[in-house]
Amino acid sequence: MKDIQSLVGKDDLIAVTGGGGFIGGHLVADLRAKGYRRIRAVDIKPLNEWFQEFPDVENLQLDLKDLGAARRAAKDAAYVVNLAADMGGMGFIETHKAECMLSVLINTHMLMAAKDAGVKRFFYSSSACVYAAEKQTSAAVVALKEVDSYPAMPEDGYGWEKLFSERMCRHFTEDFKLATRVARYHNVYGPFGTYDGGREKAPAAICRKVITARLKGSNEIEIWGDGEQTRSFMYINDCLIGTLGIMASDVIEPLNLGSDELVTINQLVDIVEEIAGVKLKRKYKLDAPKGVRGRNSDNSLIKARLGWAPSISLRTGMETTYRWIRQQLGTQESGRRGVFTA
Ligand code: NAD
Repeated sequence: MKDIQSLVGKDDLIAVTGGGGFIGGHLVADLRAKGYRRIRAVDIKPLNEWFQEFPDVENLQLDLKDLGAARRAAKDAAYVVNLAADMGGMGFIETHKAECMLSVLINTHMLMAAKDAGVKRFFYSSSACVYAAEKQTSAAVVALKEVDSYPAMPEDGYGWEKLFSERMCRHFTEDFKLATRVARYHNVYGPFGTYDGGREKAPAAICRKVITARLKGSNEIEIWGDGEQTRSFMYINDCLIGTLGIMASDVIEPLNLGSDELVTINQLVDIVEEIAGVKLKRKYKLDAPKGVRGRNSDNSLIKARLGWAPSISLRTGMETTYRWIRQQLGTQESGRRGVFTA
């Protein structure tokens, strides 16, 4: 896999949109750790709501649905990593389809702004939600290959927007010579992300529920669906390595970026219970949003093209995620802020 430093020079300005979010915050931290000093982080949220915020970074609060704001975000940038989107877990995307689709304005305007600003390379974060629903109807899944996104029948709302924006990247490359790279993320998790409020995804939600059950002394956990739906989950550190690897690569077609360690939601709960040292009574909410029945990432293409694929085990990643969420919830209870070391 090519090192990002073979592409991006120390004096290049890198704009990270969605920089106040989960993956964006980690990416900015990682780029700083790699010695980059010209970083611009952009997000619609006020700064005090960013998961991670660094004073030596140019932090901008902008609504990138607006073309003028997108132009400000891309101004003088050599590289754009576009992570901004109005999104969340199943509970959010099944009930906010119009809002999810409005992210098309972010991606359209960021592509237009990047093209006009002469950006050298543009990274777009797509999703496993682009895959056709009929290929995900069984828990005993055949892992999804990149070609399985067509004929198209993605997740309603969010998935259609992602697939459309992927194609727009492709056509900006073909017609306008803007170099684009696209990763299809499969369920990313880790510390410094959403764990409550309705946008959280399964790993964070389960950690929160187990911790809350412990704090409140109840011995019950609610699980969405029958718990036998299958998924794979990628730890944030693998996501960062893959994102920068794809960015630095010469692969112009979308690549899966996900773990291929397949688990049922019940097995994910087993892992969290083991970390917490508890065993809870499971109450299944069968009418809750569940998404597709089964989904896994086929990593043949990323291995062939990058010589690398995500490898951090779910058990290892969940340990750190659990500890961070426990600290956050403890902080809420005691009103004291702690420092988290991963
Ligand atoms: P996140 O919600 O934590 O981060 C997205 C950020 O975009 C948020 O901070 C949000 O405030 C910001 N944003 C939303 N609308 C905006 C606007 N109009 N202008 C500027 N900023 C805006 O989500 P994340 O998990 O960090 O995801 C980053 C990207 O990866 C998104 O594009 C998402 O669709 C994609 N993705 C994530 C996952 C995952 O499991 N986390 C899976 C597939 C794809």
